[in-house]
Amino acid sequence: MRIDTVLVKVASRCNINCTYCYVYNMGDDGWQDMPALISRETITALADAIKEFASQQDQLFATVLHGGEPLMMGARRLEFLLTALRDSLPARYPISMQTNGMLLTPEIADLCSRFKVSVSVSLDGPKPVNDRFRLGKKGESTHDSVVAGINVLRSHSDSEFLYAGLLSVIDPVCDPKAVYEYFKELGAPSIDFLYRDGNHSNMPYGKESFESSEYGDWLSCLLDVYLADPNPPRVRFLDDIIKLSLGGHGIKEGLGDAEYGIAIVETDGTISKNDTLKSSFNGADKFTEAWSVKASKLADVFGSVEFKMYHDLQRPTSATCKACPYLRVCGGGMPLHRWRSGAEYDNPSVYCNDQKALISKVASRLQNEGLKIDPRIAIQSA
Ligand code: SF4
Repeated sequence: MRIDTVLVKVASRCNINCTYCYVYNMGDDGWQDMPALISRETITALADAIKEFASQQDQLFATVLHGGEPLMMGARRLEFLLTALRDSLPARYPISMQTNGMLLTPEIADLCSRFKVSVSVSLDGPKPVNDRFRLGKKGESTHDSVVAGINVLRSHSDSEFLYAGLLSVIDPVCDPKAVYEYFKELGAPSIDFLYRDGNHSNMPYGKESFESSEYGDWLSCLLDVYLADPNPPRVRFLDDIIKLSLGGHGIKEGLGDAEYGIAIVETDGTISKNDTLKSSFNGADKFTEAWSVKASKLADVFGSVEFKMYHDLQRPTSATCKACPYLRVCGGGMPLHRWRSGAEYDNPSVYCNDQKALISKVASRLQNEGLKIDPRIAIQSA
């Protein structure tokens, strides 16, 4: 089993309360059993486990600091964590952080620069877009504090490395052009757009039915804006679809047929499945084996039958997907989007028609540019 990413939950609590958050507001309450912050003892065990694994896997892997909100750990514990991780992982191993940006200070930016940790900030768009769902604990706006955090990164002498980009959850009722242009104003070198969590038993916000394509239409408009821009930032989701349509490979799970190995380490050191599965049902991200960085060898965990079964969940099992001409590009979507009570993950993505609309649009735009679509993809261009 090849591992691409070890995602470490360094905090199980958050300083804000986004209404769509899969960790706290989609029915799973596992976070309540976890320590609020990763302890120094767990950090030491994690660093030892990662060091040993790095000596056993030839391929580099990324370590992502995640939460909750990772910066709730504060500067001193962050320094302890980064010292331990960098003692285990040379600089060629990427370490990054996904943060809501509100606790970013010059001191934190200095630490990240010193330990070569790039920072991606979550923001959904201009203030009215962001503040529809990304709210403080009392329902207050978060936008200005997030932008202040982004400006800490932008004004740092090492900003070109530090400021990795923005992560945005799509609101299909907002204007994609306004969001794109705003992110460019903020100097984002890279933007990643995400579908909202949801499934066949719990239709995502803004999506009327399985047959509708609100998100695909939104992304198709974004594609037009993106392709018209002579100086665009990277938009990973669109780039991956373009590359896959031309016969290449994507770089992340949820699209295409690439193998993507991801393991999660909780604040108590427990190893769990991709935490986005939490939105399917309570406990969906738990293994039956009680693995922990304190007692288990990572190579043994990743080589186990149960871990392989979890990994194989990425490949769609639905007969509809297996026969679908879009499969090589779409990949059947993320497992969490395939969930239906009763049929579990044996379904096409709830975003099936969104994917088809977008992939058709990409094919059409590429063909208009005289480019040749991968002949393995028998798709209709829009
Ligand atoms: S477009 Fe729909 S049916 Fe085709 S692979 Fe994707 S989710 Fe499956």
